[in-house]
Amino acid sequence: MFDVIVIGAGVIGSSAAYQIAKRGFKTILLEQFDFLHHCGSSHGESRTIRATYPEDYYSNMVLESSRLWEEAEAEIGYKVYFKTIQFDMGPSDDKSLQAVISSCKKNSILVRVLDHSQVYEEFDGVFKLPEDWIGVVTEHGGVLKPTKAVSMFQTLALKNGAMLRDNMEVIEIKKDEVQGGVLVRTRNGEEFYGKKCVVTVGAWMKNLVHEVTGLMLPIQPLETTVYYWKIKQGFEDKFTIQNGGFPTFASYGEPYIYGTPSLEFPGLIKIAVHGGWPCEPNERTWVAASPTAVDSLKKWIEARFQGLVDPSGPVMSQSCMYSMTPDEDFVIDFLGGDFGKEVVVAGGFSGHGFKMAPLVGRILAELLADGVAQGVDLKYFGIGRFDGNPRGNVKGFDCQVTLADSRCD
Ligand SMILES: Cc1cc2nc3c(=O)[nH]c(=O)nc-3n(C[C@H](O)[C@H](O)[C@H](O)COP(=O)(O)OP(=O)(O)OC[C@H]3O[C@@H](n4cnc5c(N)ncnc54)[C@H](O)[C@@H]3O)c2cc1C
Repeated sequence: MFDVIVIGAGVIGSSAAYQIAKRGFKTILLEQFDFLHHCGSSHGESRTIRATYPEDYYSNMVLESSRLWEEAEAEIGYKVYFKTIQFDMGPSDDKSLQAVISSCKKNSILVRVLDHSQVYEEFDGVFKLPEDWIGVVTEHGGVLKPTKAVSMFQTLALKNGAMLRDNMEVIEIKKDEVQGGVLVRTRNGEEFYGKKCVVTVGAWMKNLVHEVTGLMLPIQPLETTVYYWKIKQGFEDKFTIQNGGFPTFASYGEPYIYGTPSLEFPGLIKIAVHGGWPCEPNERTWVAASPTAVDSLKKWIEARFQGLVDPSGPVMSQSCMYSMTPDEDFVIDFLGGDFGKEVVVAGGFSGHGFKMAPLVGRILAELLADGVAQGVDLKYFGIGRFDGNPRGNVKGFDCQVTLADSRCD
């Protein structure tokens, strides 16, 4: 019998397995595909870490997570986290951007608000903003290396005594009426017994939880694509952290566009739309480009980078999935019902969960060990927030993610 069975080895499950094993619990991590596969949400070469959120409850979580990223790096002995500044921009009256500024101030995060000409000076002519836009600069930005980071957590979990098994698709989770605890069964007929269980199955969450309990969590998988664009020859250094001090960035408005410095592929920069189209995780189109998204990106790149990045079309793309909740807030809670406090779920990361993985892993370990998480208010992440209120948490600004009806939006 295991103390804890963790189901799903994306970044959240892998971080949780490490944190749980580190506390001395006998832990097993089960994954339906090969470890480090590219079919979920945690693969690839770059994710942004930033403390700028319109909601004021995420910034301090990011700062704590940032500390835990460094702690894990120190334990493994290599880097997955490359720090830089964060640059947010958008129309000066954009409600989300204004909320970002307020939330930084509320959380004592040093923030500089620049007008369009100050932005031009600050970034040595690289970013050109319309006259009615502002730029918001904060210190806490950076790039995380996703596949390498998932591998890091899995290695740390192993080093701390966890067992890891891939090609184990869980099809059943039920209460073990004989021994107590939870029985987990896989499609290939293996059975695992655990005192407790953590479900971190990303875009598969709604389906698995529904099959197991009948409960329908409002977590909608979206298929999304990241794009890489070619930097004009001779200007490559300006877009790097090392030589250009280039930031991770986000552009507010419709659509919300984000990007990371040139790092993983020399001479290329990642710029993408924060959005996608609904999908079934096992029936994806894998189609690389949404014409509307690419069109918006071309226009944005042409206007903001003034010929320093080739706007004629992306040179590379990668497909991925978001797990959207209606309010874009996470779901981190006990599953309840017959399972009471024996099963915890963590999902619905809505396209912004990677940076939080070390902290969410710790929260899950604490929920299992003590029933409560230290230093983090989980009230925004409860399943109960959707009872009689399908939209969830109420906010005074629009959602960030652009939802297309289909890839041909
Ligand atoms: C293109 C893109 C860009 C993003 N950018 C950012 C960013 O800049 N910053 C940021 O913070 N976040 C970002 N995110 C979001 C972040 O990557 C996700 O929130 C995070 O990776 C979610 O991890 P997860 O472990 O919940 O899900 P996943 O990585 O999907 O892991 C779930 C795992 O569970 C497994 N599984 C499913 N069902 C079963 C089963 N029945 N049995 C066993 N295993 C199962 C799956 O195979 C999968 O490996 C981005 C996401 C995408 C797609």
